[in-house]
Amino acid sequence: MSTSDDTSPAPTGGLPDGLAPSTRAVHAGRPAHVPDAPLNEPLTMASVYVAGGDREYGRYGNPTWQAFEAALGELEGGDALAFSSGLAAVSCVLDLVGQDALVLAPDAAYQGSLTQIGDLEMRGRLRSRLVDVADTDAVLAAIDDDTALVWLESPTNPNLDVADVPAICEAAHAAGAYVVVDNTFATPLLQKPLDDGADIVVHSATKYLSGHSDVLLGALVTRDEQLRGVLKGRRDLLGAVPGTLESWLALRGMRTLHLRVERACANAAELARRLAEHPAVGLVRYPGWGAMVSVELAAGALAADLLPRKTRLWVHATSLGGVESSLERRRRWATEPKTVSDALVRLSVGIEDVEDLWADLSSALDDLVG
Ligand SMILES: *Cc1c(COP(=O)(O)O)cnc(C)c1O
Repeated sequence: MSTSDDTSPAPTGGLPDGLAPSTRAVHAGRPAHVPDAPLNEPLTMASVYVAGGDREYGRYGNPTWQAFEAALGELEGGDALAFSSGLAAVSCVLDLVGQDALVLAPDAAYQGSLTQIGDLEMRGRLRSRLVDVADTDAVLAAIDDDTALVWLESPTNPNLDVADVPAICEAAHAAGAYVVVDNTFATPLLQKPLDDGADIVVHSATKYLSGHSDVLLGALVTRDEQLRGVLKGRRDLLGAVPGTLESWLALRGMRTLHLRVERACANAAELARRLAEHPAVGLVRYPGWGAMVSVELAAGALAADLLPRKTRLWVHATSLGGVESSLERRRRWATEPKTVSDALVRLSVGIEDVEDLWADLSSALDDLVG
């Protein structure tokens, strides 16, 4: 019995070449078109399989996970592996970094990933070097022969800085380092890091991929078969495998990913434009694409604390990527890096009517200056 080879076929084979991402999002990971087959991969609740096949035990594989993996793999252009959460996927990668290896990481990024790197460093497992990933010259200067892994997030959470992924991948590979890109904020519809040269893509499928704030799930995607085997072996051993229902819900969410992302991005672009003109807003952080917008309030931390309590439609909540719009002051979390402004409020723009969103948000902002 093998725990590192993923020999079980995906529920549907690959889709034809040349299909648009929207078509892939709708069709990938479905059962074959044969009479009486269900159109959707069913929920397979199984901890054990009859001996003699490729799965054997529930920790090594599941048809419902594989349907989700097939769909995400189609969108990212690689082979996906699902995990119990985004952070489980992050820790699987970091667990494979050699003893004392040097990890180059963003000085502002998702706090859970940075906390994991800091924690591993404190325990003597690895070394880290933090850099502003939007400053390409600084990143290239920080990569040396000692660097084993470059950890990127783009756009970054919550400053929404964008990294030059192709240039960084080229320099990292020349130095013999792997590149990981957390693609949670961009989604594979707006950015495909494997095409830009990245070795591993990380997702918190909890966010846009699932899209309905009801699932925790993570994933890694890679193109290198050997690397995928190593990652799968580690997932099987560490045991942070996805739930069957979660995989099913995430796949169901992904069927509308393109529609949700398109609408949320259009809303975000319009709101970013209007926010820049509001007197309560000191700075809008928005890369010009994506559905996340951060604002730094002119009146500082207190105003940032108040704003999420004044909206009615926008829900005061952490996380992001759901159909509903939400917001929060990031520095309310003690673990948030100090590179994030105390006055920053992060907005996850949903798919509602943009005029309703603006009416609610602008009236809350008006209160802060009134
Ligand atoms: C939420 C998030 C994670 C962690 O994912 P979980 O599913 O919450 O474990 C990792 N990276 C980014 C960018 C995130 O937003």
